Amino acid sequence: MVKLGLLDHLAAGPVICAEGYLFELERRGYLQAGAYVPEVVLDFPEQVENLHRDFLRAGSDVIEAFTYYAHREKLRLIDRERDLELINRTALAIAKKVAAEGGALVAGNISNTNIFQPGDTEANRQVRAMFEEQVGWAAEAGVDYIIAETIPWVGEAEIALDVMKHAKLPTVVTLAVHREGLLRDGFTPVEAAKRLADQGADVVGLNCARGPRTMLPLVKEIRAAVKTHVAALPVPYRTTPEEPTFQSLTERDAQCTRCIPDGRPFPVALDPFQASRYEIADFGREAFGANIRYLGVCCGAGPHHIRALAEALGRRPPASRFSPDMSKH
Ligand SMILES: [Zn+2]
Repeated sequence: MVKLGLLDHLAAGPVICAEGYLFELERRGYLQAGAYVPEVVLDFPEQVENLHRDFLRAGSDVIEAFTYYAHREKLRLIDRERDLELINRTALAIAKKVAAEGGALVAGNISNTNIFQPGDTEANRQVRAMFEEQVGWAAEAGVDYIIAETIPWVGEAEIALDVMKHAKLPTVVTLAVHREGLLRDGFTPVEAAKRLADQGADVVGLNCARGPRTMLPLVKEIRAAVKTHVAALPVPYRTTPEEPTFQSLTERDAQCTRCIPDGRPFPVALDPFQASRYEIADFGREAFGANIRYLGVCCGAGPHHIRALAEALGRRPPASRFSPDMSKH
């Protein structure tokens, strides 16, 4: 049986990609908030494997290798640069193993480097080198496609896309649009997506930072402006026009003076802002209704969100066996 690729799947219907491994493994006690480096891949590989499997059962069509922030700059900050290649290769092997259990696609992953600077030739040479080594390991592992995600600069995304295209694999580029509503180099999300589509990205869109309510309007504008497939992978939090990102959310319960000690829910006290599974189902229906086909949930997602998304798109993944039936209550 020939395994269909990402673009065949997108031509036929929606593709679900679960993200948010950092937040979920932090909540479970296997990864540190702050550093947010996936050391768990080496320290507790069975936990990464189990989480991939949870998302697969819940309906994810893709197992994304957990190499987010497993790049040279972040590993240098935690003095673990020597483990860079091993983390990447191990994460890719775990993703492949679990994907094979359910016929899922395997995606390689690169992410924001935090060192990109427009016009800084030396910094951007380093960015390219960081992407090249990670994309190289992903290609050697035989991934089906590569995702560049959570990238806040168009210029950084363009380097990522160029490196990914050299690997001759399908490409997904998802940008993070922070509070100002623009990319850090001043482009609107539509302008950014058009540039990346024109440069050959197969899928362009947004991930992370914004909840469904403040991401949907932007991805609908992108949908109207490009001919490529479009991606939307919000965080499962109730962001608002006034506080459009999960980093900008503040507590509004006057009784709650001690609930969040430093007054800043992001990143580890976002629980009161969590979107329910029903809100994620609504997001999925609305996005797919607008012909946005590459869908998922980012930081904060649990398997219940992915299952609700899958069911909203007409699927019945294995975990649907245990979907609620209150007639039995
Ligand atoms: Zn995220």
